[in-house]
Amino acid sequence: MNADERTIFKKIIDREISADIVYEDEHCLAFRDIAPQAPTHVLLIPKRELRSMDDVTDSERELLGHMMAVISQLARDLGISEGYRVVTNCGAGAGQEVNHLHFHILAGRKMQWPPG
Ligand code: 5GP
Repeated sequence: MNADERTIFKKIIDREISADIVYEDEHCLAFRDIAPQAPTHVLLIPKRELRSMDDVTDSERELLGHMMAVISQLARDLGISEGYRVVTNCGAGAGQEVNHLHFHILAGRKMQWPPG
């Protein structure tokens, strides 16, 4: 892939852009959102370059399962287990701005339902 085609999140993985990283392993990376929408707002991304949930197939079963377990552990580590929301925006119509799959982990304020 051409260097210019890489998303901002890929550049964070490659350490070309700095981020407040809270977790990393060989499969995924979690860092604080630059424009937090809640007192705790962390993004969890796979290191594999998937653009969104639309790119997810059965081949990603292990990776996605692992990431769900990482979210659960992160929630404990961040002290938000009592209430948090996990969101992924898929496609421009859902508000996705960065075309690298990511899960928003939000906590620390009362969440509304339905979401906007
Ligand atoms: P989306 O709208 O695609 O679901 O979410 C993208 C998220 O990435 C937004 O919440 C936005 O604030 C965050 N974001 C965009 N650029 C950067 C960046 O350079 N660093 C960090 N930490 N977060 C970013």
